[in-house]
Order: sequence, then C-alpha cells, then structure tokens
Amino acid sequence: MPTRREFLQKSALATAGAFLARTAHSAAMPDRPRVIVLGAGLAGLAAAYALTKEQCELVVLEARNRIGGRVLSHDIDSGKKLTVELGAEWVGNSHERVIALCKEFGLELFNNQFETHLIYKNEYFPQGRWNFSESWNTTYAKLLAGFEHFSDVQKRTLDKMDWWRYLMNNGIAERDLDLRELADSTDFGESIRHVSGYAAMTEYAESSPKNEMDLKIRGGNSRLPEALAAKVGRDRIKLQHKVAAIKQEAKEMTVTCENGASFTGDFVICTLPTFALSKIEWLPALSGEKVEAINALQYCRINKHAVLFNERFWKDEAFDLLTDSNAHYFYHATKSQKSGQGVLISYSVGDKADVLARQNNAYRKRIIVDALRRGFGDLSRRFVRQVNYYWGNDPHSMGAYAIYGKNQWFTLQPILAKPHERVFFAGEHLADWQGFMEGAVVTGEDAARGVLEF
Ligand SMILES: Cc1cc2nc3c(=O)[nH]c(=O)nc-3n(C[C@H](O)[C@H](O)[C@H](O)COP(=O)(O)OP(=O)(O)OC[C@H]3O[C@@H](n4cnc5c(N)ncnc54)[C@H](O)[C@@H]3O)c2cc1C
Repeated sequence: MPTRREFLQKSALATAGAFLARTAHSAAMPDRPRVIVLGAGLAGLAAAYALTKEQCELVVLEARNRIGGRVLSHDIDSGKKLTVELGAEWVGNSHERVIALCKEFGLELFNNQFETHLIYKNEYFPQGRWNFSESWNTTYAKLLAGFEHFSDVQKRTLDKMDWWRYLMNNGIAERDLDLRELADSTDFGESIRHVSGYAAMTEYAESSPKNEMDLKIRGGNSRLPEALAAKVGRDRIKLQHKVAAIKQEAKEMTVTCENGASFTGDFVICTLPTFALSKIEWLPALSGEKVEAINALQYCRINKHAVLFNERFWKDEAFDLLTDSNAHYFYHATKSQKSGQGVLISYSVGDKADVLARQNNAYRKRIIVDALRRGFGDLSRRFVRQVNYYWGNDPHSMGAYAIYGKNQWFTLQPILAKPHERVFFAGEHLADWQGFMEGAVVTGEDAARGVLEF
C-alpha cells in the first residue's frame, strides 16, 4: 500500500499530466521564466533556490521584516551564547531534503532527542518510571503495524473519524487515553479530538522512532533559511512587501503589494499560509472549491514560553516533561549548548496555549512554577528571563501549522494544492510532511519544478 508520501506523489504525477496537456501555453513560455515567489519562509526560499540554480529571473516578496517565517531562532541570554527556537524545533531523521541542504551548506545537525518525564495527577515520574499499560502498548503496536496493510478505502474511512474516536474504538483505557492526549496533542497543536485519524496514524506509523524529534541545527534553525537566502541573493528578497493583489492576464502576471510596489512575471509561486491567502485579491478569482477549502482548514494554536533559569536544575541534558497543567509540555531548549544557565520551554497547545498567551509574564511564571513544583520544588527564584511567542495570533499565519480535521485530508489537500492557472502553491500545509520544515522545503522545490516543466 502507498504511504502518505507515495499517495501524494501519485497526485503530483496527475498534476504534472495536466501541465503537459497545456502545450499551447508551454510553447509561449520563455526558456527562463520570470517568477515571483510569495513568502520568504522555507517553502519560498527552497523554491527560489531551485529556480536560482536554473538561472531564472526572480523576486521573493515577504511581508515581515525578516526571512524564515515560522522558523525563528532567538538569542535569549545577554552573552548571546544560548539560542532557542520560538518556531520550528526539531529536524527529523527522515527529513531527507532538510538534512541534505544542511549538509550542502555545512550546517551541523546535532542530537536533540529527549527522554520524557511525567507529572500526572500531582505525581512526578522520572523518565523510565512511567509507561502506558502493557495491554495498551501491545494493542497500539499492532494498530501501527496493521496500518501498512490498509487499503485506500480503509484510509479514507480512517480520515472520517478523529484520532480520539479511533483510540476509543480500539479500547483504550482512561489513563492511557489521558497520556496519549497529553503527548499527541503536542504534535498537532490541538486536542486529538480535532485531528483526522488518518493524519495522526501516518504521523505515528510512518515516522522515525522518536517521531521526528531527532535533530537541531547548531547555532539555530534560522541558519537554514539564512543559507538559502544567501544563495538566492538578498537583493532579490524584498522584505516588508506584503502582497495585496495578484492579477493574471494572457501574457503576464502582476503582483501588487500593500506598499504600492508592483512586480510582473510569467509565474507566481505562492507559499503563504491559508489565512494570508484569503486576504489577497485574486484576479481571476480563486475557484469556489479552493475558497471553501481555505475557509475550512484550521491552523493549530501553540504558545512557546521560554524561561532562562540560573542553573540546569533538571540535570539531564535530554530532559523533557509532560504535565497535565496548562504549561503542558516542557523541554530542555538549550541541550548541548554550553553554559551554567539553561532554558526550558513550556510548549502549550490549543485552549491551554490561548490561556497562557492572553496573560502577562507574572501569571505565566506562577503557572510554570506550580506545574514544576511536584518534581523540583519552588523554582521562583531561579528565573532569569522569560520570552513568550504565541503563534495563534501571529498576524501572517494565525496559527502554528495546519491541522487537518475529520474528513479533510483527502478532500481539502488536493484542492488546496491545485495550481490556479500560472500560480503554483507550496507550503507546509500542502505537504506529505505536513507541519514540518521538510514539508515546506519539498513543496517549494516541487512548485519550482512545476514552473520549469510548464
Ligand atoms: C511553534 C511551532 C513549532 C514547530 N515545530 C516544528 C518542528 O519541531 N519541526 C519542524 O520540522 N517544523 C516545525 N514547525 C513547522 C515549521 O515551522 C513550518 O512547517 C515551516 O516553517 C513552514 O514554512 P512555510 O514556508 O510553509 O511557511 P512560512 O514559514 O509561514 O512562510 C510563509 C511566509 O509568507 C509570509 N507572508 C504571509 N503573508 C504574506 C503576504 N501577504 N505577502 C508576502 N508574504 C507573506 C510570511 O511572513 C512567511 O514568512 C513548527 C512551527 C511552529 C510555529
């Protein structure tokens, strides 16, 4: 049976067939098309880099005053020795394109795996001292293994229920379900009651043993977009150019920005999250089905609250911790970075993220101190600095990453991925590796290929 990746490759071939059919257009296209790339996140920069290698004329338009989009490294200590990620954190061992690009640019990937502790119902369980029940572990292993033999019909049926329902239907007991909810909601950024069973199953059945929480880029993940931008040429990346309108005419496309600047080209590669897409004036208009799909797709809410502590009281460099508090999940965000001080990030999702995001740092400190007290005593005097970033209110994405709900993967994704005449779409929300940097890069490169093969 095809994996989610192979399934998408089949759809991509079908789309490629559609390109080949348009010979009248192709004949009229110049050898080196002029391309306007929207968005300087990883999808846009990967597309731009692929086109640069083919000597295409291009410009990248970015609304923010920085590149990288949802990759956002931050120096948290005054000595600038400690870097934390306020956006994407882990590179997975299966993320071939990101790993290959890091190698190409000489960026070191280091181990960023963790051994998980637990605070549950006011009891602290160090790593190795808690587990799911034996019977659930056996059932779950069988379910994951069985997925390999699912037919397309079974996959579509699974997509029609949420992950919570699927686990319930398979007899999960209350404590096991609580723990799955705590762990799995960190992957989807919302409760598992909102996640397509199919999307969740592919995440767990087709990922590395640590579920792609494997590696990180030395010096910060932002070094990858920086390296791509250097190859593309900074002068071709226009920051603070928020796209407002896209007009396609027989001979030319015109993209107009809110600041009044306008750019013409033969193709557009659009890597914007769907919220941003919905704010653009499209001429001709997007199809009704695309507009409906844009309106239907939700993005998850993640709040990252980084706390610089005066010492690494958690001792183990590979420390992470699930809790059943609003602070939710903690991990050592400065693993393998030398310093006496260290950072734990409280990573909360869904409504919990919303609660923390609405409050001030004094409130967040109280929540975090209370959440950790059972395992580590009163930590209030150990706080050195706090930094908070809430992706649910990020003006350019209004969420951390897309979350495919019940019956959405097989229905929405193909519609969202479909080109709109000479506009190709890319971005994590369209990817097999959806919600990952890898997905952004792969879809960006695919879109560049789409332009070159038009
Ligand atoms: C909190 C968090 C945790 C994450 N954890 C991980 C992880 O551990 N591992 C992992 O691999 N991935 C993770 N991700 C996901 C990863 O960050 C994304 O999948 C990836 O960075 C998305 O890249 P993109 O190019 O598709 O979108 P973006 O990075 O959002 O790029 C789109 C760009 O378009 C710009 N834009 C928006 N509107 C306009 C406009 N009108 N005109 C011009 N430009 C515009 C945006 O500013 C943005 O720069 C995480 C993300 C978040 C937020």
